Amino acid sequence: MQATTLIESFRVDGKVAVVTGAGSGIGKASALALAGAGATAICADIQDDTAQATADEIVANGGSAEGVALDVSVRTDVDALAQRVVTDRGGIHIWCNIAGIMVEGPFLEAPEDDLDRILAVNLKGVFFGCQAAGRVMVTQAEGGSIINASSAAADAPSPDIASYAICKAGVVQMTKSMAVEVGKKGVRVNAVAPGFVLTGMTGRYFVRPDGTIDEAMQEAVVGPMRRHTPLRSIGEPEDIAAAVLYLASDAARFMTGQVLRPNGGVAMV
Ligand code: NAP
Repeated sequence: MQATTLIESFRVDGKVAVVTGAGSGIGKASALALAGAGATAICADIQDDTAQATADEIVANGGSAEGVALDVSVRTDVDALAQRVVTDRGGIHIWCNIAGIMVEGPFLEAPEDDLDRILAVNLKGVFFGCQAAGRVMVTQAEGGSIINASSAAADAPSPDIASYAICKAGVVQMTKSMAVEVGKKGVRVNAVAPGFVLTGMTGRYFVRPDGTIDEAMQEAVVGPMRRHTPLRSIGEPEDIAAAVLYLASDAARFMTGQVLRPNGGVAMV
């Protein structure tokens, strides 16, 4: 381990980290955490304004970042971003596939369009990110760390989110399958499987169109989540970012093909 102390091994100074979904929630918290620990964060999101806002916040805090618009479901754009980052920054050491969407509805009535949409972002988007990052990392001779967003939904099925759960279970197997191929090149591939975290994705149940919160609805959604979680709490994006930072850093140098589960204990696998 190059760091002189264990705590220093959690730092990622001088590394270049691409984070998808960095405009919001867990992706944003992960970009902030990686930049706070010394990385240059390439903040990618389908919305260029939110990606740029995350990058601006990092720079305002004294870190290094840039914001970039990216639709992870467009393979050529994902590849182009990877190549451009290599050209501009000299390499890619960390790539976090965090972008994701939710589609809900009863299994028996799920429209094909919905299935195609969620597969394109949550499964193929992660695949494209893994490929683009992996190709760079296996050739740059410095290794690398890829982190994919799975979910507790991959462990514990819930009604009305079958297509989402299928994607997240697929991300787990994708992570393991890739890890066995690229480990010999020093590239680690791991996943995080969060439990319920308050973000834009989960807040849609109780955030009104004008941005205010329907507190009764919030309690109706979050209350049962909290009560059914062994730690009696729901997660914050930073709880997941901590796991992402660990997996990205040399502190996790012996970890690959693994799924970390910051979930308050809702699934124990
Ligand atoms: P979020 O706040 O909605 O953040 C997701 C970000 O990804 C948003 O900025 C979203 O933009 C962006 N995005 C959507 N489609 C994209 C695309 N095609 N290309 C690039 N960016 C895209 O959600 P989150 O809760 O932080 O979720 C982050 C990841 O964690 C997801 O993969 C999610 O499935 C996973 N996860 C979340 C939870 C939870 O409880 N929050 C639990 C387990 C797993 P838009 O806002 O425009 O869609």
